[in-house]
Order: sequence, then C-alpha cells, then structure tokens
Amino acid sequence: MSDLVFQDALKRLHRIGNQANVPEHVLAALSHPQATLSTNLCIRKDDGHLAYFKAYRCRYNDILGPTKGGIRYHQDVNQAEVEALALWMTLKCAVVSLPLGGGKGGITLDPKQLSPMELERLSRAYVRACADFIGPNTDIPAPDVYTNARIMGWMMDEYEKITRSKSPAVITGKPLALGGSLGRDSATGRGAYLCVKRLAKNLNLVPAQTTIAIQGFGNGGYFCAKLLQQDGFKIVALSDSKGAIYAENGLDIESVHQEKQRSNTLKAVYCEHSVCELIDHQKINNSELLELNVDILIPAALDGVITRDNAHDIKARYVVEIANGPVTSDADAILAQNEVTVIPDILANAGGVVVSYFEWLQNKQGEYWSLDKVHSQLAAKIELAFDAAWRLKNEDAISMRDAVYRIAFNRLTDAIEAHGTSDYFRQ
Ligand code: NAD
Repeated sequence: MSDLVFQDALKRLHRIGNQANVPEHVLAALSHPQATLSTNLCIRKDDGHLAYFKAYRCRYNDILGPTKGGIRYHQDVNQAEVEALALWMTLKCAVVSLPLGGGKGGITLDPKQLSPMELERLSRAYVRACADFIGPNTDIPAPDVYTNARIMGWMMDEYEKITRSKSPAVITGKPLALGGSLGRDSATGRGAYLCVKRLAKNLNLVPAQTTIAIQGFGNGGYFCAKLLQQDGFKIVALSDSKGAIYAENGLDIESVHQEKQRSNTLKAVYCEHSVCELIDHQKINNSELLELNVDILIPAALDGVITRDNAHDIKARYVVEIANGPVTSDADAILAQNEVTVIPDILANAGGVVVSYFEWLQNKQGEYWSLDKVHSQLAAKIELAFDAAWRLKNEDAISMRDAVYRIAFNRLTDAIEAHGTSDYFRQ
C-alpha cells in the first residue's frame, strides 16, 4: 500500500461527510489521528546478528471508547497505512455501535523470512515498545494480516510480565486457553457471510445459482467461503499471495483448505468416498480473479486492489469487502456508475471487531460465553447494522458505503458534540 492511502481515505471521508452535511469540526476531528507511536524494534536473529524493524501503533480516535484495532505484519506497512486502517476502525466501531474507538498497528517486515523464535522475539519487542501506549482501558490490539492467536498470546504474556498483573483484556484474538473467545477465529468471515445472506435475502438471490470469487484465502476469506458453501453458494475462485484457482463448477472449500495447510499451496481438490482427487481447475492470477464473470466478488486480502485502472473491468454485480480498503475512492464512482453494489469494509468485516469486543467483555467480567451466545449476538449486531444501512440507502438513494458512513458520522457527531464545547460557539 502506498503512502497515499491515508489521503485517499480522507478524500472519501470528506466527500461523504460534505454530502451528508457533517459539521466541519467533526470532519476535522476525524481527519487527525490523536496519537501515533512510531518506533524501531531491534531483535537478535537466530544467527546472532541484530536486526531492526520499523513499527507503529496508532490510537486514532477514542471518543466512543478505548481504541481497538489489529496489528499487521507485512512488508508494505507504513505510517500512512496504519493511520488509514485506524480511521476505518473508528468508523467501523461506530457503525456496529460498539463502545470503542479506532486504532491499528503494524510492523514492516516479511514475516515469512523470520523463524518462529525470531517472530516471537519481535512480537514481544513490539509490546515492550508499546506497553505505555496500549492497555485494557486505553488501546486494545488484535490480529490482522499475518498475525494470529499464537502471536496475540505471546503479546499478552509480555504485557503481563511488564505490568506484573493478569490482564487478558489488553488484547483480543488470543488462544482460548489464555482467555480467547469461542467464535473469534471465524468472526470476520462469519460477519461477511451474514452480510451476503442479508444481501441475498433482499435481492432474492438463489444460493445455488450465485457464483462467488474470493481474493485471499486467509482467516477472513476461508471462514466466509466455508459458511457460504454450507449454504449452497457456489465458490468458483479462490486465491492467495502466490496465485488463484478457478473451477466453473465450484470448489470444495474444506478440501482446498486442508490441502493448503498440508502443502502450503492452493490446489483444487475434493473428497469423495474418502479419496481426494484433483478436480478440473484452472490456474489464474489475482488480477484475473478480480475480473471474473461472477455474481459476487469478495476481496479478502489487501487494500487498493480495485482502482480506477481496473474498476471498469469488474464484472461482478456485488462486491463484499472483507479486506480493509480494497476499493479506492476513485473506483467507488466507477463501480457506482456500473451499478455494482458494494457492501463496504466497515460493515462487511466488522464481525472481527464485534467478537473481539465480546472477548474483551468476557475478560473484564471473568466469564466465558458459549459459542451459541457469541454467534447469536454477532448476528444480532451485524443484521441490525446491515438493515439500518440498507434502509438508508433505499430512502436516500445512496450507495451502501455512503449509508454506513452516514450512520457512523451520526454516532461520532453526537459523541464529539456531547464531549466538547461546540454548542457554545454555534451561530
Ligand atoms: P490473513 O493473513 O489470515 O490472510 C491474508 C490472505 O491474503 C492470505 O491468504 C494471503 O496469502 C493473501 N494475500 C496476501 N497478499 C496477497 C495478494 N497480493 N494477492 C492475493 N492474496 C494475497 O489475513 P486476514 O486476517 O484474513 O485479513 C485479510 C483482510 O481482512 C485484511 O485486509 C484485513 O485487514 C481484513 N480484516 C481482517 C480481520 C481479522 O479479524 N482477521 C478483521 C477485519 C478485517
């Protein structure tokens, strides 16, 4: 992601905010991150050498509550990206009515180049650098691209060593054994799945006749694909950083997943009578996947993949954004012109932060919720937010993105005005 991503995020924020008459002081507050920690982490590599890594943590806006957001490990991480992602977290928490603000963090590295021990040392170094910046009542990290429950466990452990106290609520997405929540692993994918189901219900889409392509077969993409397939939707294409696979008659998600876990590559397989066979599939690349003639396209990898250069070539009628920021602000207009309905990231991928919030609540209350409770409360939050946005979209003849932004703006405006002095200066 380039440095321009934050500028692009602000461009969209101001376009939608101005159209919705959001007060100028609110847009100004939402355009300036409250605090960003930028640091260099040093670890000793397995061969004895020292290595340095750039790292960030942003607490973007805490007007609605402690800031919350994932930590990304990727070679393209930079301050602008972290701030853009933290802005989107601020809006996302508002859309699904959580008492949380927006934050984000990241380390600039290719995690595949580090050994497990080096990765653990680096994750612990990150927490040492951020220990005064994060906390269960100030800023609560979680997993994002190339970070997972294991890494969250190391981070919690390091934080507890520093503070000499038990503090599971400092981080979410932890292993179950360390106070993680049931249902957190699948939460982002499940939230997106619930959005697709709502979309299908509103538009009378028949699952067996609805084809889907998913870019990114990681945490979000895999669980979403699995749930959609269980409901009868036809997943015809999947991809990861190395490439994509396409099968006109649909892929068997669980077999692809198992094969990928085993061989580390995407291969189209299905299991029949307990024999795994290769099914007829085509190898394509990630750009070809985006342009497939499918009904629903789900970008679930990185940001900025649909831009003004390829938006005209998107043939899907619906785009459901599991990734944060996969569509640039220029591409918004092109997709709208071509009557492509986009279910935006700050709604479609909100399942992750919703269940992270449930995990934080459980940790604070010393409770464990059942999986049924997590699933039903998640569905309640996502469906409420989806239905409110769908209604507003239809009433005001605006896009789903504009509708969810307007809902977020309303909640943030109320909170900003209730906290501040703007009433005294109103004309
Ligand atoms: P992950 O690390 O589990 O998976 C990322 C996937 O993207 C992997 O399959 C990887 O191979 C693939 N990928 C990486 N580079 C690619 C490229 N250039 N082209 C195609 N595929 C590529 O990450 P995740 O947690 O599933 O996150 C994916 C997206 O969802 C990110 O944008 C993230 O910010 C967003 N998201 C994640 C969560 C969460 O809880 N994990 C919550 C909200 C949003």
